Amino acid sequence: MKILVPVKRVIDYNVRPRVKADGSAVDLANVKMAMNPFDEIAVEEAMRLKEAGIATEVVVVSCGLPACQETLRTALALGADRAILVETDVELQPLAVAKLLKALAVQEAPQLVILGKQAIDDDSSQTGQMLAALMGWPQAVFASKVTVVDGKAKVAREVDGGTETLEVSLPAVVTTDLRLNEPRYATLPNIMKAKKKPLVTVKPADLGVDVAPRLATLKVAEPAKRKAGAMVADVAALVDKLKNEAKVI
Ligand code: AMP
Repeated sequence: MKILVPVKRVIDYNVRPRVKADGSAVDLANVKMAMNPFDEIAVEEAMRLKEAGIATEVVVVSCGLPACQETLRTALALGADRAILVETDVELQPLAVAKLLKALAVQEAPQLVILGKQAIDDDSSQTGQMLAALMGWPQAVFASKVTVVDGKAKVAREVDGGTETLEVSLPAVVTTDLRLNEPRYATLPNIMKAKKKPLVTVKPADLGVDVAPRLATLKVAEPAKRKAGAMVADVAALVDKLKNEAKVI
């Protein structure tokens, strides 16, 4: 079976984002970018399914600027078989990405699409759910364990107070939670091999998708600065402060 893994190029998680002076967006000029960490987990899960003989091909896809090729090459170095870049300089919102992924899912006919549970830049956590709805496929989101047997995926998800296990028939959409696996590092030989793996570029128009934004960003602002904390002498002083000064905001 084929697995499709969408990977997003985002600001590296180690970088402290800065807001542009005009408050229109996060400043990405000269900022280190990387694969969305949840997507690394998605690639890893797809590779494990391939290594277990369950998947036969892992196709990665990224939507955005030509620089997303770098993210795709990283995924290829982690073991993916081939890559698709949907190239556009339009700011892509989750619905537009879900429509692009739908067009590719129709073309590629994967049995499983594994996405990250959220992209750490916009924290939307919408794309996988929208894709499942557009395809009319079952979805199991925030997966912490995935087992594929007999055309079905059993997916454990962490919920308040325990673990919920769902069984979905394939084709289906799964999104990854942090504890699903620990992604591998790309080795140098695999980075070299990845340069030769197939990477095709298409445009949204080739897929018949209008990616124009439907939402307008009004303002982006830094979070309010936290006030400095205070050290207390002992537990009694702490209890006194909690009793007399602390308030629910
Ligand atoms: P979001 O709904 O934006 O939080 O993103 C959830 C997941 O959708 C990500 O972890 C990726 O797997 C996928 N995704 C979102 N945007 C893109 C993109 N531009 N290119 C490829 N995959 C994406």
